[in-house]
Amino acid sequence: MNSQLFVLNDLVLLQQHLAQHYELFQIARDPQGEDAWQANISANTPPLYGQAHLPLASPKGFFFAQNEALYEFDGETFTPITPILSPRALFGVQACDLTAISYQDQFFKDDPYYQARREQSLLVGIDCSGPCEKGFCPQVNAGPQVATEHADLILSNFSEGQQDSLKAPWLLIAASDKGLNSLQGLKLKKAPDNWSQLRSEFKEQVLTKFADFSYINNSIGYINDGVVPAQLWEELSVRCLACSGCTNLCPTCSCYSSYEQNDIESNKQTTVRTWDSCQFDGFQREASGQNPSHLAAQRTERFWFHKFSDNYLPEFGRYGCVGCGRCEQTCPGSIGVHTVMRRIEQQCCN
Ligand code: SF4
Ligand code: SF4
Repeated sequence: MNSQLFVLNDLVLLQQHLAQHYELFQIARDPQGEDAWQANISANTPPLYGQAHLPLASPKGFFFAQNEALYEFDGETFTPITPILSPRALFGVQACDLTAISYQDQFFKDDPYYQARREQSLLVGIDCSGPCEKGFCPQVNAGPQVATEHADLILSNFSEGQQDSLKAPWLLIAASDKGLNSLQGLKLKKAPDNWSQLRSEFKEQVLTKFADFSYINNSIGYINDGVVPAQLWEELSVRCLACSGCTNLCPTCSCYSSYEQNDIESNKQTTVRTWDSCQFDGFQREASGQNPSHLAAQRTERFWFHKFSDNYLPEFGRYGCVGCGRCEQTCPGSIGVHTVMRRIEQQCCN
């Protein structure tokens, strides 16, 4: 559908409207004082939004569950355990995380468990008005503004000096039929004709606030040219503690493993899927004992190849990194994206 543009005078009004039909998820302060995605938020709680509130854990787990039962076997029949969900709205998703959801949509396009959750979800994106702490979304075409094909509703506030106000006039874009239907019953005025142009101009202003991250693009080139020396991957991998922080927090990481759970009383067996990590020694180990990534250096190289190789462009139409910077924030060995890409540039540009 062609996007439809409206004026929204109060962000909380939209929250309250959506809460009548959807379970509301949004970013809020948790009891430890951290910004985190949370369920069952009161529609009267003002949302935390934008680049200042990118939570360390992305919304990935709302669709690709960290642990979930896939099916049950009673000795004769396999019964799928498809998730049953009521409609829910994720309110205030940043552009990078929406890009990651779109990436995962392709990876899990034939996965009924993932798709059941996606079908019940309304994605409400919010444009960022500046860079977040470690983010470099423009470098990988994942922000700072939400792409219309990545969300059902998009909120944008480009009024001078008003970007942090709940009650400034917001541009509300209905970007899908699902988004437009969700607005039924809410009285909204059409946005003035020039607001789309103002949003584009505001994006150009926001882009000037980002630092120079050209080393990321240069190093993507070196990875694809196959010129990163094996010794560098070894030096970097020595610092990996195999904690899986990077893969757990990365919004595009989608590797999983499965195991069986036996219930002796009912004599039923349940197959459970759980997140896995390519940084674990046993990730690629086969039953024969053969392990194509038994060295930490192979695992480190493999991770970055999967994020930045041109080989995956035909399948996903983009790189597997959305520039959120979470791997840099969390890695206890300090080998997140900025460190790795800077080291590659230093090593390869001479
Ligand atoms: S966060 Fe760092 S230390 Fe942990 S698995 Fe990833 S690369 Fe290794
Ligand atoms: S590789 Fe790092 S910066 Fe890129 S999407 Fe994953 S966590 Fe974010």
